[in-house]
Amino acid sequence: MNLKEHIRNVKDFPKQGIMFRDITTLLKNPEAMKYTSEKLLDFAKGLNVDKVVGIESRGFIFGSILSEKLNAGFIPVRKPGKLPAEKEQATYQLEYGTDTLEIHKDAIVPGDNVLIHDDLLATGGTMEAVCKMIEKLGGNVVQISFIIELSFLKGRDKLKNYDVRSIVEYD
Ligand code: 5GP
Repeated sequence: MNLKEHIRNVKDFPKQGIMFRDITTLLKNPEAMKYTSEKLLDFAKGLNVDKVVGIESRGFIFGSILSEKLNAGFIPVRKPGKLPAEKEQATYQLEYGTDTLEIHKDAIVPGDNVLIHDDLLATGGTMEAVCKMIEKLGGNVVQISFIIELSFLKGRDKLKNYDVRSIVEYD
């Protein structure tokens, strides 16, 4: 399957000059959903994953499918103010300003093998911050998977120490 045929390209969203890769068109197609979850599962084959971490909000969709298939727990990483219990926080740089993400401190047990999933890799700033939070809690990041990689933004350079996988790339 050519998954790109199921990804909608939206010009100038959320702002001028950005080509947004929209996965809602992929989500509404059952064959594309199945293909995507099988590919992500295939990447994780042979890994002993204890927890799948999904990043709010598009990372929750296939992150939870993967966790069920891998017989692992699912951990949400959320935007500030959403998680109710004791939290770890990471703040990272954006083009203009900063952003923050949170995880529950008791979500990861030291020694857990963790697979992190998000829909798209752009600059890698989001994923780098999430890796640091998980490692601070004692987790081992055994794989990072994405549906889409914007390779021209070189996000992989920030994630050199990890097993980074993606299904489709845009140059
Ligand atoms: P990064 O931190 O790698 O620069 O940005 C990645 C984050 O931005 C991901 O959480 C991803 O969901 C979001 N993102 C950035 N651009 C796009 C896009 O074109 N399409 C989608 N679906 N998400 C994007």
